[in-house]
Amino acid sequence: MAETALPGPAAAGATRWEAVIGIEVHAQLRTASKMFCRCSTDLRDARPNSRTCPVCLGLPGVLPVINRRAVELVLATGIAIEAEIAPVTRWDRKNYFYPDLPKGYQISQYDLPLASHGRLTFDTSEGPCTVRIRRAHLEEDTARLQHTTDELGRRISLVDFNRSGLPLMEVVTEADIRTAEQARRYAEELRLLLRTIGASDAEMENGQLRVEANVSLRPVGREEFGTRVEVKNMNSFRAVERAIAFEIERQGRALEAGEVLVQETRGWDDVRNETYRMRVKEYSDDYRYFPEPDLPPLRADPAWLDSIRASLPELPAARRARYVAELGLSPYDAGVIVGDPAASALFEEALANGAVAPKALANWITGEYLRVVRQRGDGGHASGAELAHLVAMVEEGRISGTNAKEIFARHVEAGEPVEQIVAALGLAQISDADALAAAVNEVLAAHQAAVSDYRAGKQQVAGFLVGQVMKATRGQANAAIVQRLIRERLEGGE
Ligand code: ADP
Ligand code: MG
Ligand code: ZN
Repeated sequence: MAETALPGPAAAGATRWEAVIGIEVHAQLRTASKMFCRCSTDLRDARPNSRTCPVCLGLPGVLPVINRRAVELVLATGIAIEAEIAPVTRWDRKNYFYPDLPKGYQISQYDLPLASHGRLTFDTSEGPCTVRIRRAHLEEDTARLQHTTDELGRRISLVDFNRSGLPLMEVVTEADIRTAEQARRYAEELRLLLRTIGASDAEMENGQLRVEANVSLRPVGREEFGTRVEVKNMNSFRAVERAIAFEIERQGRALEAGEVLVQETRGWDDVRNETYRMRVKEYSDDYRYFPEPDLPPLRADPAWLDSIRASLPELPAARRARYVAELGLSPYDAGVIVGDPAASALFEEALANGAVAPKALANWITGEYLRVVRQRGDGGHASGAELAHLVAMVEEGRISGTNAKEIFARHVEAGEPVEQIVAALGLAQISDADALAAAVNEVLAAHQAAVSDYRAGKQQVAGFLVGQVMKATRGQANAAIVQRLIRERLEGGE
C-alpha cells in the first residue's frame, strides 16, 4: 500500500477530505493458563511476579509448550468472522530489546496467521457497515512496566512479569473504516462477538481488549492512502470514537494549512481530550522475524475445525436477524437485547419458559430490566422463568403493570419467586366486580363535585375518578373494570 505525500498548499481550501481508518485489536484470550507455560492467567489480587516460571520469565534452557485452548479460541474467532483458516501455520520470533520482553523476542505469527480474509458486519446510525478483517493471529503478551519514584525520590521503573506470556489474539482490519463512529461500533461488535463465543472477557478497563487506530486523510475520489498516524492509549469505546474524531479534525486542519504530515504514533489524553505525539517513525521497524525453532508447525485438521464450528453458539448477527424475522422485534430492540449478552440470555430463558408474547418480553428487557441493570450495575438475581411468569400475570390481568414493576424490582434483589412477592405484598389485582363496586361507590361519594361536573358534560373527570379508585386500592384494581363501573354509575343516574 503506497503512502504518498498529499497535495501541498496549492490544493489547500479547495479539497474535500475523506478519513481512512484501520483498527488493530489485541484481545487477551480466555484460558486458564498462559500461552506457553502452566502459570495461571488469574491475576486478580496477585502480587507482582507471583504468576511466573522460567518460561514466562524468559530464562535460558526452557522450552515453550503450546496452549491448545488458545489456538482453539483463535480458530473459533476465525470461523465466526468467516475467515479462511490456514491448514498449516507456524510461529515466528519478533525480535526487539525492551525491559518488558525478557527473552529479547516475542513469539508471534508473521506471514502465516491462523485466520485471514474475514469480515464483520454491524449497525451504525448511518446504516449497516461491513469491515474486512485482514488477519487474526496468536502471540504472547509482554510484562508490565511501571514508571515511578522510590522513597528517595529517584525515578525508577518496575517490571511485573505476571502479564508476561498471557495469550493474545491480534485482529487487524483492512483500512475500510471511514468515520469515528464506525470505528467505535466495529470495536464494540468485535467485543460482543469475542464474549459471545467465550474467546475473551474483553474488558477494556482491565486491558483485556486494547484498541489501536490507524488514521489518515485523503482527498475524496483519490485511491491512494495518505500518511497515517497510529493512535494508542484509548481506554474506552467512547475514547476510541473521540480520539479518532479529534485526529480527523487535526489532520484536516493541518492539511488545509498546507502542512505535510509525518507518520507517527500518538497517544490519547482522556482528560485534555486530545492526542499527543509519542514518537515519530524515523525508519520502518525491523524485527528480524524468523521461524521459531522451538515450536513445531501447527496443523488445524478439518475434524478439529468441524468440532469447533459445531460448538459455536448462535452469533450476534444471526441472533439479531432471528429476533427480527421470527419474533417480530424491531431491529432497534433486537440490537439492544443482543448487544448485552446477559440481557440476551435472560430473554432466551424467558422465551423458553413461558408462552408469553416475545414483544411483551422484549419490552420488559429493554425497559425495566436494563433500567435496573443501569441502577445496580448488574442484573441481580433476575430469572428468565420468573420474568416470563410475571409478564403472563400482567397479560392475564392478575396484577397491574405498575405493580409488576415493583414486583420485578424486588425479585431482582434476592431472586424471590414473583408469586411469593405478590402474596407477601398482597398485590394480586382485584378483578372481582362486587369488590370493586364498593371502592367505586366510596370514591363517588367522596367526590360529589366531580360527579356533578361529569353530569354537566365534563366527561374527562371520569379519568380522575378512575385514578382515585386505583389509589384507594393501591393500584390493585383492574383499571378496565373500574372504568366500566364508573361510567355505568355516572350514566345510570342515581
Ligand atoms: P503495521 O505493520 O505498522 O502494523 P500494517 O500495514 O499492518 O501496519 O497496518 C496496520 C493497520 O493500519 C491496518 O488496519 C491497516 O488497514 C491500517 N492502515 C495501513 N495504512 C493505512 C493508512 N494509510 N491509513 C489508515 N490506515 C492504514
Ligand atoms: Mg501492527
Ligand atoms: Zn510461566
